[in-house]
Amino acid sequence: MTNTATTSVWGGLALWKKILIGMALGVIVGGIMGPSAEVLKPIGTLFINAIKMLIVPLVFCSLIVGVTSMKDTTKMGRVGIKAIALYLGTTAVAITIGLVLANIFLPGVGLNMTVSDPNTVGKEAPAFIQTLLNMIPKNPISALAAGNILQIIIFALGLGVALTLCGEKGEPAIKVFESLAEAMYKMTELVMKLAPYGVFGLMAWVAGKYGVDILLPLIKVIAAVYIGCVVHVLVFYSGLIKVVGGLSPARYLKGLVTPAAVAFTTTSSSGTLPATIKASREEMGVSKSISSFVLPLGATINMDGTALYQGVCALFIAQAFGIDLEFSDYIVIILTSTLASIGTAGVPGAGLIMLSLVLSTVGLPLEGLAIVAGIDRILDMARTSVNVCGDMMVTILVGKSENELDESVYNKTTASSHKTA
Ligand code: ASP
Repeated sequence: MTNTATTSVWGGLALWKKILIGMALGVIVGGIMGPSAEVLKPIGTLFINAIKMLIVPLVFCSLIVGVTSMKDTTKMGRVGIKAIALYLGTTAVAITIGLVLANIFLPGVGLNMTVSDPNTVGKEAPAFIQTLLNMIPKNPISALAAGNILQIIIFALGLGVALTLCGEKGEPAIKVFESLAEAMYKMTELVMKLAPYGVFGLMAWVAGKYGVDILLPLIKVIAAVYIGCVVHVLVFYSGLIKVVGGLSPARYLKGLVTPAAVAFTTTSSSGTLPATIKASREEMGVSKSISSFVLPLGATINMDGTALYQGVCALFIAQAFGIDLEFSDYIVIILTSTLASIGTAGVPGAGLIMLSLVLSTVGLPLEGLAIVAGIDRILDMARTSVNVCGDMMVTILVGKSENELDESVYNKTTASSHKTA
């Protein structure tokens, strides 16, 4: 009876609460058990392996869907190029902010973690030029089999463009990839159900091995990500709105409130899309044709908050394991995260999965994911909000450049904006 009650209370909890509970219990149990908590580690390994299983098919399918969702008319082509250039450019800036903040906060320094399972370390990172040359896969099937993400991204982009150019003949294949991408999102959801247990096992092992002191660095990671997110929106996005668009940043920020709040609580930029589209039209005055093309594209490919988070976390993990990164590694992180953001689904927790690919591309231990996974929901709230604010900013700028921004709506005063939805 009591057991049933406990089970239903647990079953009724939101996933992120379960993850936080798993993390807290893990720290407590690990703190009590000490190094012998290693026996709990396999539960975490199971979770990490399940995540790794998703990466290749998830990136491949969702990227193709992202590319093919752009319809091929001249205007769409022009708008698409502007939007993509802005999306990718701002993402590279976001990750750079993340890297700078991680170098200021140094959240992982002094943790002295060691890699216990060499299999969880990515391969030795190749030189930068070599990485660039290697981006084109000589054999896409072996790239998929080997899990070479940069090559997979390039091939998926090419295939997506080719399928779009095929017109009607490409449709059946596009449908297959759409359906597979849906299935992969579903599978991600299922795997994330393991997260509370995986996080428990990993946190118990980490806390048992390194002591409860591990929590302080995590607070520094949270601070670095949140400060980065605030700077990115208030300084960088607002600056672009002012300088490139010649528009009022205050109006932009005000129009963001609802979509950002929805993003913060749902941690899904795809789920926030209806709120974002509504705000861009009614609050910002962007035309329907621009907002209905640029925003869904952004929800699929634009992940500035996620990239910023990956920059902070990659450096945190490098610092925690005492691994020195070279300048070329930084470039590879920027490149991988920027490209990976195209393949990141706008669903809760997707950034954590993509973090594993950034880590393996630069040769950092995937074990570091364990520590970050425990606080992932808190970080996801901030990064998803930034993802959505970025989509909105790009939509406004593209709308303005296409003369499809109604400035009388954009500039309307607060007093006259009590419009009912
Ligand atoms: N939750 C994020 C989004 O929907 C993706 C991520 O996990 O970083 O935008």
